[in-house]
Amino acid sequence: MIGKVSLFVLGVLMPVMLAYAAAGHLPGKTWPVIALGAVAFTLMGMNLVLAARLPGLDAVFGGLDQIYWVHKWTGMIILTAAFLHQQIKISNDGLEVTAALSQLAVEVAEVAFIGLVVLILISFFKRVPKMPKITWEIPYGLWRWSHRLLGVVFIALAFHQSFVKAPFDGNALLSVWLNIVALAGTAAFLWSQFGFLLRRRSYRVVAVDKHAAATIVDLEPVGRAVNVRPGSFAFVHFSSKGLREPHPFTVSQVRPGGGIQFSIRGLGDYTRRLRDVIAVGDTARVEGGYGRFHHHRGGAKQVWVAAGIGITPFLAWADHLKPGDAEQIVLIYCVRNEAEGVALDRLRAAADRVPGFTLKLHMSDTDGRFDAAKLVSYLPFEIGQASLWFCGPAPMRDGLIKDLKAAGKAPRSVHFERFEFR
Ligand SMILES: Cc1cc2nc3c(=O)[nH]c(=O)nc-3n(C[C@H](O)[C@H](O)[C@H](O)COP(=O)(O)OP(=O)(O)OC[C@H]3O[C@@H](n4cnc5c(N)ncnc54)[C@H](O)[C@@H]3O)c2cc1C
Repeated sequence: MIGKVSLFVLGVLMPVMLAYAAAGHLPGKTWPVIALGAVAFTLMGMNLVLAARLPGLDAVFGGLDQIYWVHKWTGMIILTAAFLHQQIKISNDGLEVTAALSQLAVEVAEVAFIGLVVLILISFFKRVPKMPKITWEIPYGLWRWSHRLLGVVFIALAFHQSFVKAPFDGNALLSVWLNIVALAGTAAFLWSQFGFLLRRRSYRVVAVDKHAAATIVDLEPVGRAVNVRPGSFAFVHFSSKGLREPHPFTVSQVRPGGGIQFSIRGLGDYTRRLRDVIAVGDTARVEGGYGRFHHHRGGAKQVWVAAGIGITPFLAWADHLKPGDAEQIVLIYCVRNEAEGVALDRLRAAADRVPGFTLKLHMSDTDGRFDAAKLVSYLPFEIGQASLWFCGPAPMRDGLIKDLKAAGKAPRSVHFERFEFR
């Protein structure tokens, strides 16, 4: 909440107020148009800061996945403000372009605006909007490039705002503000593109288990380990050909001494190739840990619901439970059948070791569809007293929460991990 409020205050209120102070006395639509441009530019700079994975920011927003969610919707506000700024014409009186540089600033902005519209639309729409028989999804690589180029567009717009002939004093607070935004946004963009060189750590693959439902990869650090907690996720890529693009995966085991594990479901090109290609001895580069999916703030009664590969954060949590833990926790693991369950031996060992931890395996082949009524029936306590922790497909999560609320059985709080950034 605090992150979203700060974003609104700094990204919207501040530029609007400064635009009014700088140009409020000017006729007609001048100050609102300047305010729209200032809002679009400020939010763009802030969005670059949000995307830079800066330490501490995820705590303010409640996790990196939350940051990306805010980042995505801020993109739409930027697009709207930039569009209005560009479309609403203001009086040119006294604004004749006097120098070649300010003329160039206008032309650069025109090209940058087209780039902005195209790139934000590519970024926003994961799939071609609902069209019959078209299921083409914008490839992640293209989507990532659209993001990189948005940084270049921002630098072009920083040039525009610095050199365009503006109808207000160059010493106005608005100019100072926009220059600060330009510097912060550019620095954040450079950090997001090159900062990984400082953040990545080397690991060696020490075991690969090709389980029916996931490829389970154990890594040991070569030198310094990343700082991860059970429930964190990290970006990882491997030395083998075709596996060099970093992908996010939750750490499914955190071992003493820095060893970590990823359990990876073959859902697309990269993750399927990984299953075929990865081998013991390969080098991995890991960047993390990220995320705020940590059940310690979940209270005395907790329900953990995992669907399919959504078990990964719960696996790491279950490993770290101790016999003396005071919480009463029920983990409901939804799979089609027993063979699909990843690391069931570890979950069962945790249930034997920790009196407060219960594992309920819901197998849809025999138990039917998992729904809100089944969830409630598996619990030895009222769900209204418990926090609900979910990791699995978003439609399943939304359906469960809606049905629980409709039945008057809303949990005390709901926490979930998104396995998707865009
Ligand atoms: C926080 C988080 C934790 C995750 N934890 C796990 C886990 O523990 N186990 C697991 O099996 N999966 C996990 N995933 C999902 C996993 O990252 C994707 O399944 C994988 O990246 C898909 O890559 P692909 O090329 O095989 O599939 P594709 O079909 O190419 O991509 C499927 C979707 O995955 C996302 N994606 C693809 N490439 C990337 C990338 N380089 N970076 C970010 N997102 C990308 C995109 O949204 C894309 O639409 C997690 C995702 C997130 C965001």
